[in-house]
Amino acid sequence: MVLATLAGMLAVYLYNRVALLAHEAVTDSVHVIYGIGGNVAVLRTDSGAVIVDTMTFPIQGRRIRELAESLGGGPTQAVINTHYHVDHTHGNPAWPAGTHIVATERTRAYLERFDRDFWQGPAAGALPNVLFSDRRDLRIGDKTIRSLYLGRGHTGGDLVVLFVEDRVLHTGDLFFNRLYPNIDLEAGGSVQEWAKTLERVLALNFDRVIPGHGPVTDRARLLEFQRFIAELAELADESAAAGRSLEDTLAAARLEHDAAFEEMSIPFLFKFDRDFVIRRAWEEASGAVQPVELDDAAAASGKH
Ligand SMILES: [Zn+2]
Repeated sequence: MVLATLAGMLAVYLYNRVALLAHEAVTDSVHVIYGIGGNVAVLRTDSGAVIVDTMTFPIQGRRIRELAESLGGGPTQAVINTHYHVDHTHGNPAWPAGTHIVATERTRAYLERFDRDFWQGPAAGALPNVLFSDRRDLRIGDKTIRSLYLGRGHTGGDLVVLFVEDRVLHTGDLFFNRLYPNIDLEAGGSVQEWAKTLERVLALNFDRVIPGHGPVTDRARLLEFQRFIAELAELADESAAAGRSLEDTLAAARLEHDAAFEEMSIPFLFKFDRDFVIRRAWEEASGAVQPVELDDAAAASGKH
């Protein structure tokens, strides 16, 4: 009896912990929602809400939808997925079939290739259904929402979203704010390409930046991250050219631009820290890990 009560209390605690959301204003029309998973952006238009990313669990999706539609001026007009990872997409099924869900063609292909079980079931109706390869503008109410694919980085299909009138950019996981990033080489991620991709991102017209993870920030912090990625790529290049082993590379590695970075981890699941990013950069530069081949039309329309 006592155990059952305790188990019940634990379940309620975990449910509330998982579903807990915090939000803050970025501009008059843009809010960010923080929770377990990637940061969610909400744009208010005079026709309703536009939402970027949907976090990790369907129960979060339901709460995000409710909160976003109150912050965003009414019913959802579009959802945008920055990339295919579960912590940015698994809230999607909270939106009804027929909702416009924007992503790159490669993101859709990665969802079907790497996360098939989840998307095969009832969630299939919440797969991205407005697909593009380079650029897609939405004009919703009084606002312009520009989705851009600017090159490989965190995965091979990440888009960034520019809220044009508000000069706010959601970078997805192309930018972790003072956190060591995940690098998904298997799904086309590339340390070697990432810094160039971020150069193109930095050329856009924006002031405030919503990163994939970490607090809302500005261009300077994004530039700091770009310098870190460039430094990491150079380190791996030199190591591969010299034929150094991973162990020697880790032992000799010197990085400067990550002085203020913190690690991200969930025990037994993942740990993104300095050793992790150096290992991934070395695996790419040395050819030890290659992207998984996609054999469908979406892959063929990619540029790499
Ligand atoms: Zn990610």
